[in-house]
Order: sequence, then C-alpha cells, then structure tokens
Amino acid sequence: MKRVLITGGAGFLGSHLCDRFIKEGYHVIAMDNLITGDLRNIEHLFKLPNFEFYHHDVSKFVHVPGQLDYILHFASPASPIDYLKIPIQTLKVGSLGTHNLLGLARAKGARILVASTSEVYGDPLVHPQKEDYWGNVNPVGPRGVYDEAKRFQEAITMAYHTYHGVETRIIRIFNTYGPRMRLDDGRVLPAFIGQALRGEDLTCFGDGSQTRSFCYVDDLVEGIYRLLLSDYASPVNIGNPSEITIKQFGEEIIKLTGTQQKLIYKPLPQDDPKQRQPDITLAKKILGWEPKVSREEGLKITYEYFKKIVSQEKK
Ligand code: NAD
Ligand code: UDP
Repeated sequence: MKRVLITGGAGFLGSHLCDRFIKEGYHVIAMDNLITGDLRNIEHLFKLPNFEFYHHDVSKFVHVPGQLDYILHFASPASPIDYLKIPIQTLKVGSLGTHNLLGLARAKGARILVASTSEVYGDPLVHPQKEDYWGNVNPVGPRGVYDEAKRFQEAITMAYHTYHGVETRIIRIFNTYGPRMRLDDGRVLPAFIGQALRGEDLTCFGDGSQTRSFCYVDDLVEGIYRLLLSDYASPVNIGNPSEITIKQFGEEIIKLTGTQQKLIYKPLPQDDPKQRQPDITLAKKILGWEPKVSREEGLKITYEYFKKIVSQEKK
C-alpha cells in the first residue's frame, strides 16, 4: 500500500485530499496543528485502519516513521483574515515548513507536491495569468506575508529539485470553494452566504468591480491528483477560468439564497487584486484536465452544506 503524508489535512482542501487518497486505496497520514483547521473535517476517517492523524506544527522538525511515497504540503493559513491575524506563522509554514517537508521528501525518497497560489501573481498586470508571468507583489504590504512565503516556497522547491534531485510538483491554486470552508474565514463566499443566512446585508468591498474565478473543490482535487502522478516539475495553474466581478457574485448569492438583504459597500482592503483569472492551457495540455462543475451547480452544493452547519449550530 502506498503511503501519503498530507499536511494541513484537517483543513478545507487537505480534508478533501484525505478523502480522495483513501478512496484511491492509499495509507493516509494527515498532519495538522489545527490553527485554522477542524478535526470535524476528518473525524469520519478516524475509524479506518489506513488513516492516521498527527497533531504537529510542520514549521518545527517533522518526523514520520516508515516509508513515504508522496507528500502533499497544504498546511498554511489561506484566507486573508487568517494570515493577517497570524502573519509570522504564515511566513514560517511557507518557508521553514516547506524546508522541513522537502528534507523529509529527500530522506524518504518521496515525491512532494506543494500548494502554491494565484497570489504569487499579486495584483496582476497580465490577464489572464499564465505560468510564465512573474507577478506584481508588494513584499511589505499586508498580503506580503502570504504571497512572499509562497514565492519562497516555490523557489526552495525548485532548488531541491535542481540541486538534490527531489521529485517535486508545484500547483498554483486559484480561488476554490466548497463544503468544509469555515463560515467565519472571511473569504467572500462564506462571508456572503453566512450574511444571507443570518439576515444581514452582504458586504461588498470596494465598488465590486474586482474579479475572481471560482473553482469547485472536486475539480481542484482531480487536478492535484493528476499533477502529482505526472512528470511535470514546473508550476501549473489549476482553477476555473469562469471569471466574475464580486458585485455579480454577490447578486448570484442573493438569488441563490432568496435573501431580502442587499449588497452594501465597504472599503477595499489594501493591495486587493483587481482581476484574477487562470490561463489553464498548460493543465489542459499536460494533464488533460479542465473543470467540470459549473458555478451554479457548485454553489448549490455549498449552500446546502452551510445551511446544515448553521442549523446544527442553532441546536
Ligand atoms: P485551511 O485554513 O482550511 O487549511 C489549512 C490547514 O493547515 C489548516 O487545517 C491548518 O490548521 C493547517 N496548518 C496551518 N499552519 C500549520 C502548521 N504550521 N503546521 C501544521 N498545520 C498547519 O485552508 P485551505 O483553503 O484548505 O488551504 C490549504 C492550502 O491550499 C494552503 O497552503 C493554501 O495556501 C492553499 N491555497 C488554497 C486556496 C483556496 O482557494 N482554498 C487557494 C490557493 C492556495
Ligand atoms: N470580498 C468582499 N466582501 C467580503 C469578503 C471579500 O467583497 O466580505 C472581496 C475581496 O475584497 C476580494 C474578493 O472578495 O476582492 C475575494 O476575496 P477572498 O478573501 O475570498 O479571496 P482573495 O482576495 O484572496 O482572492
């Protein structure tokens, strides 16, 4: 049985990856310090003999006994309010954490995939974003703690590949959504749905003309799985190119939830990217991957999930 270590395994994306690798017949070791994650995301796996959970901060030395075939490094705060609250831990997990996991991969002869982000493009001057664009990041702005940690992560990952011959994969993930996001993580989708469910107005930052392109989690997981098993070591964008303004997105959530509330406008946070859309030509070519789930379909599933969570919290 192949053994895979998933860091950030109790988080939104990490827990979906645990499910996928269990389904594919792997022995899964989830590692997490629970700083933004939740054990409820993986508690259904605890009874399985091929699942283990390690409560550990990966910015400290990482030890895993036995053979390891794959490492997926997904540990990191990911939403702007999370990484603004814990900036130093964010820098450490992207830098020291990645270094520790690359060292582990080297020692075990394992292949490692690291979770990078569209944020490496910053507030992009090229649209849509292609992998060969170097980005427009403010290193000392509030988002710098996340963006620069991820840029360092990519650099050290390539260095381990080039100088130590470690098998590495780098995925640049664009905004992804789905069940198991935290209702209070501050990202636009949980914020809007949470506000609609509580009967509050939806807070649109700026004039809402900034764009994002939202990918449903199952599509992302499929892209990660294919990239891990591919032989491609340079960064690959995975995301859904269907682009929408935040104002239009708010209107879609109002329609979906049937709320009587309206959009209200709040100041745009500093360095908030004005536009974002993945160019997925490379993923299509080398992985035969493209997203399958429409926003309409994905939002319905996610809304049902949040409704259930809110009604359980009320009990
Ligand atoms: P999340 O906050 O739900 O999950 C992150 C997990 O990492 C949490 O369970 C948290 O407790 C854990 N963690 C954080 N620091 C840790 C540490 N030092 N040691 C051990 N565990 C630690 O966020 P997510 O949306 O699931 O994001 C997962 C990964 O994907 C992150 O690396 C993020 O940068 C990347 N990513 C996500 C998106 C997205 O749209 N969700 C987009 C781009 C990149
Ligand atoms: N946003 C918003 N209202 C909110 C939360 C976010 O208008 O309550 C905006 C935010 O300013 C950004 C977009 O929605 O332009 C996406 O924000 P999110 O935090 O989800 O992700 P990111 O900025 O990292 O793409």
